[in-house]
Amino acid sequence: MIASNIDNLKKKLPDHVDLVAVSKTKPAQMILDAMSNGHLDFGENKVQELVNKYEALPKTIKWHMIGHLQRNKVKYIAPFVHLIHGVDSERLLREINKQAKKHERKINCLLQFHIATENTKFGFSIDEIKTLINQNLFNELQHVNICGVMGMATFTSDTEKIKEEFIALNSYFKSLITHFDKNIFNIVSMGMSGDYQLAISCGSTMVRVGSAIFGERN
Ligand SMILES: *Cc1c(COP(=O)(O)O)cnc(C)c1O
Repeated sequence: MIASNIDNLKKKLPDHVDLVAVSKTKPAQMILDAMSNGHLDFGENKVQELVNKYEALPKTIKWHMIGHLQRNKVKYIAPFVHLIHGVDSERLLREINKQAKKHERKINCLLQFHIATENTKFGFSIDEIKTLINQNLFNELQHVNICGVMGMATFTSDTEKIKEEFIALNSYFKSLITHFDKNIFNIVSMGMSGDYQLAISCGSTMVRVGSAIFGERN
């Protein structure tokens, strides 16, 4: 069931768009079912749940941390996380770099931008990132790969508004390409169950889909 939901969804995605199956709140067994046709990218938004599932499930899974990440919890996911989507401060970046170094690896990160009007959503502004570029921060952090950008649109039924926010995120991505290694900096993570098609039409290269695959959450 879950595996065929993933297959059907993947058929609708253009080749350049990757799918992160968001398994938060769902049991490990459902992830095993979801993997049966070969899907390996899963997303979680809580560190404890991510660690528990990492320990319980096959080590071939590529784990995406998609939620807000507190600095004091980076150490728990640093040994194994595949991509951290919600990097939203210089201090968090420095901590990820420090923990990655301890584990002698590079950790893939996306810069989260604040594109929604709600002030509950986290993220940088483009000016903050430009300042960090000018301070040479990203060259200094040798254990972090900056792989692109991530954003969450406002929770609204106004698709014009969501579209504007997605277009803004894609424009930030384009304005930053020249500052990063373009072989690595190539991900625009935007779009969820309700808006992934719109996100793709606005330039998304990675969609994070939960309820449309696993069913509604409580
Ligand atoms: C929960 C979540 C998703 C998936 O949401 P659905 O609407 O269930 O597809 C995507 N991104 C983030 C950051 C999330 O927290």
